[in-house]
Amino acid sequence: MNLLQKVFDKIDQDWEEEVHFLQKLGKYPSTLGNEAAVQRFVEKKYREMGLEIDTFIPDAKQLVSTPGYGPHEWSYDGRPIVVGTWGAEGSKTGKSLILQGHIDVVSAEPLRLWDYDPWASTIEGDRMYGRGICDMKAGVAAYIYAVKAIKELGIKLNADLILQSVHEEEVTGNGAVAAIARGYKADACLIPEPFGPAAVTTQVGVLLFKVRVTGSGAHVLGADQAVNAIEKAMVLIEEMKRYRDDINAQPKPKAFEAFDHPLNVNIGVIQGGDWVSTVPADCMFEVRVGFYPDIDPQVMIDEITDRLMQAAAKDPWLSQMPPDITFYGHHAWGLDLDKDMDMFKVLGSAHKKVHENDMEKIAITATVDTAAYNINGIPATCYGPVGDNLHAPNEWVHLPSVKECTKVYAAFILEWCGVQNAEEVTMEDLTVDMY
Ligand SMILES: [Zn+2]
Repeated sequence: MNLLQKVFDKIDQDWEEEVHFLQKLGKYPSTLGNEAAVQRFVEKKYREMGLEIDTFIPDAKQLVSTPGYGPHEWSYDGRPIVVGTWGAEGSKTGKSLILQGHIDVVSAEPLRLWDYDPWASTIEGDRMYGRGICDMKAGVAAYIYAVKAIKELGIKLNADLILQSVHEEEVTGNGAVAAIARGYKADACLIPEPFGPAAVTTQVGVLLFKVRVTGSGAHVLGADQAVNAIEKAMVLIEEMKRYRDDINAQPKPKAFEAFDHPLNVNIGVIQGGDWVSTVPADCMFEVRVGFYPDIDPQVMIDEITDRLMQAAAKDPWLSQMPPDITFYGHHAWGLDLDKDMDMFKVLGSAHKKVHENDMEKIAITATVDTAAYNINGIPATCYGPVGDNLHAPNEWVHLPSVKECTKVYAAFILEWCGVQNAEEVTMEDLTVDMY
């Protein structure tokens, strides 16, 4: 039996354990600021696998000077990044690899719209349900069990393999940036985000910002003289909707031609007022804007600020009391990678060991941590399981796709990093007898 078949058989044997591990991961409500417990759980797993552990708190000073940094408005105290390294012994003739997953998840609210407990990892048929189960704890289980199968079979790799469990992918990207700032680098990085069994070559850039509007608060009896901050915020929200239409009406780069609406401008949060019969003095809303690759996020910051300030200038109140605009979180560049790079060739070959079709290369209208790696010179892509309802009620992952992803990652690792004692392992050995 050849080597890859042995690894695939091991993944099959460990499958129940992998599902159980994923269920446990899914039970940690690891929203922003609440990642410590699940990180301890991952650290324990890395330790059991015999990896060299580096658990560290992101250094805010280092972060700020590293490309890809997104301004943060909170502390990193008690919120570790966990890195487990499997260092190659000997000559290291292969190519090194980072496998990374983000362990943070978005809020499960509103809970009333769920048919399942978002923190119970319920299995029904081929699906597992839960907040973050697809985005992207299933991918975390997949890369861990791919490495575990290889390691437990006693196979030795020709290059270092670095496993990283990070946070803040959902808001700043600073977990990945912190690992890069700490000095972790490799010849490639794979991130099993759940965009399915396809390689992401192209993605939009993303900015987040807050707009604060001040009115002239007064009791509702004097409301005809008062200025309502919520109504004034609506003036600016309307402008953001026009901006969305304008940027999507521009000619699209080729990679995004298939999308009707590649550049999402999402009003994600609004807060204002505190009593029904008081004219609200404050209103704040938060916006996420996507933009095409090759545009400096700073150019977009200037454009959006200009657009909001011009709308404010036309309004009698806002021209006197302009909005306060704060860009925070993601300052992520878009990406359009060379589709012929080695990473895609090896991933395509690994994909064919498990799937009959050729691997697709896709564009996405979101940002992920690959942005931070590529801007720091480390080629990175996503390839992962299948599921649905990401950032929505009843999020689920298709379990058979998690197993397939685990196998593709194992095949990629063997070919990319190379296997020691290669005289005993011919390339023929890296094919699989049957699947
Ligand atoms: Zn994700």
